[in-house]
Amino acid sequence: MNALKRCLLSATSFLLVASATAQKARPIPEKLHPLPFGSVRPQGWLRQQVEDNLAGFTGHLDSLVPKLILQDDIYGTDRLTPKVKSKDVGAEGAPGEWQVQFLWWNSETQSNWRDGYIRSALLVQDTLHLARLRRYVYRILATQDSDGYIGIYAPSLRYRFDNENGELWAQATLFRGLLAWYEATGEERVRTAVERAVQLTMRSWPIATAHPFKTVNPNVGGLSHGLMFTDVLENLYRISGNKTYLEYLLFCYRDFSAAVINEDAQLRKLLDATLPLKGHGVHTYEHLRSVAAAYQVSGDTVLQRALANYLRKIAVATAPSGGPVGDEWIGGRGADATRRGYEYCSIQELQHSYSELLFKTGTAQWGDQVERIFFNAAQGARHPHESSIAYLKSDNSYQMTGGLNGDTSDKQQVRYKYSPVHQDAAVCCVPNAGRVAPYYVQYMWGQDAEGLVATLLGPSEVRTRFKGRPIRITEETGYPYNYGIAFNVEGAGASFVLKIRKPAWSGSVRMNVPFEEKDGYLVVRRKWRGRERIELQLQPAVTPASDAQGERFFTYGPLVLAREIAAVPKAVKAYFLPGFRDLHYERAQEVPFRNADTTVTGPLTGRLLFEAKAINPATGQMQTIHLVPMGGTILRQVTFPLK
Ligand SMILES: [Zn+2]
Repeated sequence: MNALKRCLLSATSFLLVASATAQKARPIPEKLHPLPFGSVRPQGWLRQQVEDNLAGFTGHLDSLVPKLILQDDIYGTDRLTPKVKSKDVGAEGAPGEWQVQFLWWNSETQSNWRDGYIRSALLVQDTLHLARLRRYVYRILATQDSDGYIGIYAPSLRYRFDNENGELWAQATLFRGLLAWYEATGEERVRTAVERAVQLTMRSWPIATAHPFKTVNPNVGGLSHGLMFTDVLENLYRISGNKTYLEYLLFCYRDFSAAVINEDAQLRKLLDATLPLKGHGVHTYEHLRSVAAAYQVSGDTVLQRALANYLRKIAVATAPSGGPVGDEWIGGRGADATRRGYEYCSIQELQHSYSELLFKTGTAQWGDQVERIFFNAAQGARHPHESSIAYLKSDNSYQMTGGLNGDTSDKQQVRYKYSPVHQDAAVCCVPNAGRVAPYYVQYMWGQDAEGLVATLLGPSEVRTRFKGRPIRITEETGYPYNYGIAFNVEGAGASFVLKIRKPAWSGSVRMNVPFEEKDGYLVVRRKWRGRERIELQLQPAVTPASDAQGERFFTYGPLVLAREIAAVPKAVKAYFLPGFRDLHYERAQEVPFRNADTTVTGPLTGRLLFEAKAINPATGQMQTIHLVPMGGTILRQVTFPLK
């Protein structure tokens, strides 16, 4: 969500998309095939996190903000009509033209929340939540019009816009969750409903003549979020094999690129390697998936170049934790562990985008990027003991009192705090905080032509079939908090290759069976008998690194380490539901420590606790400090200035 009145880019002129993108779709085969949602289930700490979310904000968001969810049947009886000119969503901010976005906001809030809620309940098979969600799924299907329409607009408005609107975005967020439900339950009527709705959209905005991204105002929110309709098109192609979805996907990106809008992911801007990212962060990090998909669909080398530039630009905007900056704008500036924050929505979107790159290309390093974001940025912006998250967070987090590290210059900046809702900013990040773990789980296992691939590591169970034979593998581990992983393989008589992504930080590894190392994967080839146990031991070490400002930080395996800072909590808002509250934190120590020595010892006594040395700003003396994984911290110092 954003204040688009503060637009950053000057209006661009009409542009031509390289003609090559207009060629007939010739898909590049994906290296790894995603398994239907629900094939991979979380275990251990991952399952616990999903259960905690269900017991917390994910399971209760409708009760925490009933006005935005229960009292706005935006896909049903409260669809938007020409008479609805404004909507009160409880957000703070100066009035202005940007508030036209409020009209569609609740569709995103409801559907992103339900996407995370559906996936979480399916992953842990929670019968109470599943019963509630089944009623919801049937109710939303019942809103479908006879022509197939599912969406938020009355007939006189739909598919006829020349300005900001939420048509494609409201559909994209809703259909992502419905397709997860279909994949996990096999309920054909859900798939049929989504396909009918998507086909209506494709007929109503036909490739030959329509311009769904055309707008008289270049500063749009819902309209450009709508590019994520490509998530749905891609998923439907994977389910059905129907290539018209891919053709429409390419058309969406082509029309988006040709529009006069202030968005980083337009082809012309991506082809300019010197142009930094400026836009609204969450758009920029989610649109990466659409560009990656458009390249995959077309095989177009111009798009390949655009994608490569895009990835380099994002790398510049990425903090040591993997958090992609934007508060809420990227603003043409790179990452900075102290002076730039990142939004929880952006964490989820970039993690999802990298997961797609991992599967499309099979390139192991994208798995390292996904793990970096999820274990560090995402875990580090969750409250460790309560059900709440930080809307905005920075790697060096010295105060959580509304503004960035105690900044009070913008009275309307309320996002640097912990809340189960964040309604005073926007209810976007909390819904996405319920999606991040289920999306990690979904991409933990994939298939290739030879067998199964453990793509992202962690405690899980996968059930699938390969060449008709059932296979079940449980992955026993506390990863990333310990580094021994046992794969219990049940695939009697099946002949398949098991590949395990080898983390880039890992040097030599030990395994109890013969294996070869190839392209970043550990490859185990055998004829499987009964139940077999493959044991893998990874060997992390503390590694010093430098960030863009030349400050020093430390990693241990996939984890970024931090010095925890003593903090004083202050409850700033209570909710009608017990157990939920908004919290500020003030630090009780001087910062920053500096000149951290590269010698770090640990882990100490079997815990992930490390000893280092740095100069205390209060005393000017070098002293022993402790480092812990930054996930699970509240106030903390991740990077250390050298003087
Ligand atoms: Zn957000």
